[in-house]
Amino acid sequence: MKQIQMVDLKSQYEKIKNEVDKAVLDVIASSAFINGPQVKEFQSDLEKYLDVKHVIPCANGTDALQIALMALGLEPGDEVITSDFTFAATVEVVGLLRLKHVLIDVDPDTFNVSIDSLKAAITPKTKAIIPVHLFGQCANMEEILAIAKEHNIYVVEDTAQAIGAKYTFSDGTVKSAGCMGEIGTTSFFPSKNLGCYGDGGALFTNDDELATVIRSIVNHGMGKRYYYDRIGVNSRLDSMQAAVLKIKLKHLDTYIASRQKAAQYYNEFLSQIDGVTTPGLNPQSTHVFHQYTLKIDGIDQFDMQQYLNDKGIPAMIYYPVPLHSQEAYEAHRYNDADFEVTNELCQTVISLPMHTELDEEQLKYICDNIQTYLKNA
Ligand SMILES: *Cc1c(COP(=O)(O)O)cnc(C)c1O
Repeated sequence: MKQIQMVDLKSQYEKIKNEVDKAVLDVIASSAFINGPQVKEFQSDLEKYLDVKHVIPCANGTDALQIALMALGLEPGDEVITSDFTFAATVEVVGLLRLKHVLIDVDPDTFNVSIDSLKAAITPKTKAIIPVHLFGQCANMEEILAIAKEHNIYVVEDTAQAIGAKYTFSDGTVKSAGCMGEIGTTSFFPSKNLGCYGDGGALFTNDDELATVIRSIVNHGMGKRYYYDRIGVNSRLDSMQAAVLKIKLKHLDTYIASRQKAAQYYNEFLSQIDGVTTPGLNPQSTHVFHQYTLKIDGIDQFDMQQYLNDKGIPAMIYYPVPLHSQEAYEAHRYNDADFEVTNELCQTVISLPMHTELDEEQLKYICDNIQTYLKNA
């Protein structure tokens, strides 16, 4: 059996090696390392793929979030609501910009922001909500957009884990993850579903004015050359990363299908086991399985992780500590009792190997070992 990886980027690369090697060497030969034609080409391919008016590439997914909040013109003290159960980048940029983060609890089935908690968190100072499409499926966007409209709140979708997911509204309209609110952000970190071979990110918007502001912010706040209209940053996707992404984007739907097939295998096998809850699905969203995350009652996740590691099976705990109890994010402001679901998830979740190259022999081996562990636990 091939060695099991949490994310097998090497086997994936081997299948596209010729094409990728040539594209990267072409960039080197051209010496247009920054702002080469590959960047525009990838941007335009991604706009078509997502069916969004503007894709603005940048240096990484964290920058994308920060730039989104800068573009919306939020002022220090404005409140930004986001999920307690996510990667730190989301809340970090809110803090960096001296905005006030308001963390909220999540839904126990989908792990995405709870609509009740969202409603309860809104105050006259709320200016934005950042729903995170966690682990590959969209948050409850229909409700979030309605609430945002009612209260005049911006919606910035953190799509770092869900590029390619599709959301169906009750009127039948289908939209891509990241293209429903004012701005969507994503990351092309190598292990993401559309990953490059270094760092990369992008913002999405259908609003022409916001797109102009975002394009200026990523380039030092410049409008006309050497005229600075606002404070900006330096955040670029380089030509080599764009060249790799242009190739991988053509395969994204196939990659998603491979992940869904692996998830299907896990679901069929693992849902039979007592105490195991397989990922809950939001009927309005497809799931692109950035992570395949189980909830398991009554075990020590770290003990299970160690057991699996000893059998050559990597497994991760995403996420072991809620953001509301992190020192950096003003833990003192939050009341632990308001985060019942996140607190429980942090003690029960475990993520299994999930990538585009898992074969049935590996999947069976993983499932068999989980079953054996739980029988003896
Ligand atoms: C990966 C990730 C980010 C940050 O992306 P980087 O490119 O690593 O900066 C932000 N939000 C979420 C939910 C992520 O998973």
